[in-house]
Amino acid sequence: YAPLAEIDPEVQNILDKETWRQYSGLELIASENLTSLAAMEANGSILTNKYSEGLPNARYYGGNEWIDELEVLCQKRALQAFHLDPAKWGVNVQPYSGSTANFAALTALLQPQDRLMGLGLPDGGHLTHGYYTAKKKMTASSIYFQSLPYALDPSTHLIDYEGLKKQARIFKPRLIICGASAYPRDWDYTTLRAVADEHDAFLMADIAHTSGLVAAGELADPFEYCDVVTTTTHKTLRGPRAGLIFFRKDSLKAKDLEKRVNDAVFPACQGGPHNHTIAAIATTLLQASQPTWKEYAKQVVVNARTLGDELVSRGYKLQTQGTDNHLVLWDLRPLGLTGSKLEKLCDLVGITINKNAVSGDASAQVPGGIRLGTSALTSRDMLADDMKVVADFLHRAVQVALVLQKEAGSKLLKDFVRVASTVEEGKVGAKTVIDLRRE
Ligand code: PLP
Repeated sequence: YAPLAEIDPEVQNILDKETWRQYSGLELIASENLTSLAAMEANGSILTNKYSEGLPNARYYGGNEWIDELEVLCQKRALQAFHLDPAKWGVNVQPYSGSTANFAALTALLQPQDRLMGLGLPDGGHLTHGYYTAKKKMTASSIYFQSLPYALDPSTHLIDYEGLKKQARIFKPRLIICGASAYPRDWDYTTLRAVADEHDAFLMADIAHTSGLVAAGELADPFEYCDVVTTTTHKTLRGPRAGLIFFRKDSLKAKDLEKRVNDAVFPACQGGPHNHTIAAIATTLLQASQPTWKEYAKQVVVNARTLGDELVSRGYKLQTQGTDNHLVLWDLRPLGLTGSKLEKLCDLVGITINKNAVSGDASAQVPGGIRLGTSALTSRDMLADDMKVVADFLHRAVQVALVLQKEAGSKLLKDFVRVASTVEEGKVGAKTVIDLRRE
């Protein structure tokens, strides 16, 4: 045994630089978080050595005594963290990620070419919810199933439940998926269940983004209404990168969801489970069941609301003008600035954000907005007052971006980047960038 730094200083050096980037900058990407050291220790453990295809006590490999104990523990903690009755709900903790969890769930619930409806990607939905473009079926969820997106109401930017109802009457889906990657409001599960029931369809919630808040009771409970709930474990839930699939054992629609989901994960979609990840999920779920978790989740929401309010008070436009959860969607279009430019500028000053489509964007390639999330900063114990400072940094970044765009004399991103990098070298007189970097 020799440490990484000795065996591979090159990789160690990259790790060191990334550690510095994560902890010295401001991490505002809504799908990211700062996982606990305990979970990372489990994730980097000896469990990575073990093969364990199958389920606890029914494996295709020997030597799984402790792996069985671990997976059962992880399942138990998952049900506890989401306050689920083990007689009514079960969980598969093996999916490698949110995307594979979703595809396994579709495999469990549907036959090839069955119909599904999910929130459209440009309206905040996820790729795995049936996304396709006019030119191409882009994702397995639209290649192997027929999908139709539902949308936001263009005036309120809330889910258009009436529109969904009407579309469903024509399309007659077998499955309705709710959940999103960029939707700042909560979901009306009662209405969604009623629409699904009208067509004898399954209802599945993908709570990848919000599961940490759902576990804490900060958002409406999808488990009351859905047949299946999927989630990633690394966003607001703050664990390792992986996925979970919860299934209702007493679903009125199918009595065999447990077998269907388990068979869909393995052997239909995956091979051996990543046991080191399952250990880290178990540790994360233990943390999510502690009283302190509620404080964290509450603060995530307070911080997102404060950040949103602070931007609005500086005259900026947010989609739905606020948030119920951990993220805000900032519409930069009134400023004549694209999300890509602000993202580039913020990278230069150690603020990590991502460009995002806002409802009604003409092009998904050049989105007019930014998605901001407060989970990672909250995990660093930042409070509402800190969000005011963050909002101020963002405000100044916009001002600088506007100066640079003017200086570039062009709206093209490449010209913006060229001018921004000369600012870095101190060649352009936009002193605020330098000041911003110092803070
Ligand atoms: N579902 C939603 C709603 C997501 O936002 C994401 C990721 O951003 C996923 C699924 C996919 O998760 P992963 O990147 O782990 O495959």
